[in-house]
Amino acid sequence: MNTTLDGSVSVPIADLDTDHPIGRFPEGLRLVGTRCNRCGTAMLGERIVCSNCVSEDVTRVGLPETGTLYSFTRIHVGGDRPRAIGYVDLDGVDVRTLTDLSDAAGDLRPDTTVRLVTDGDAWHFTPIADK
Ligand SMILES: [Zn+2]
Repeated sequence: MNTTLDGSVSVPIADLDTDHPIGRFPEGLRLVGTRCNRCGTAMLGERIVCSNCVSEDVTRVGLPETGTLYSFTRIHVGGDRPRAIGYVDLDGVDVRTLTDLSDAAGDLRPDTTVRLVTDGDAWHFTPIADK
């Protein structure tokens, strides 16, 4: 609970309630998302309120496992192999997520098609040849 400068109390709405980013769905392990039943907006994470129209009529969904790499960078620290991170636009929904990337072949490029890889609660995206 925060107190504002005029002394009133500001209580944030807990609209992002995701302890685990990966969930099990009928289609398999997926990033947990939310779809609004009023306006159709898809969002990353399990939410209780739509970030577009503020409707509370929302459903927990598994987000698409494939997407397109929007942009990325490699982080070089010490003598370790560089770590790649980037933004992926998930297929069929208006959701962009920041993610670790598999860069074993060093061939990441913007617009590369990528697929979700999970290991427990750990996850990253890896390039694939075709969708
Ligand atoms: Zn909505």
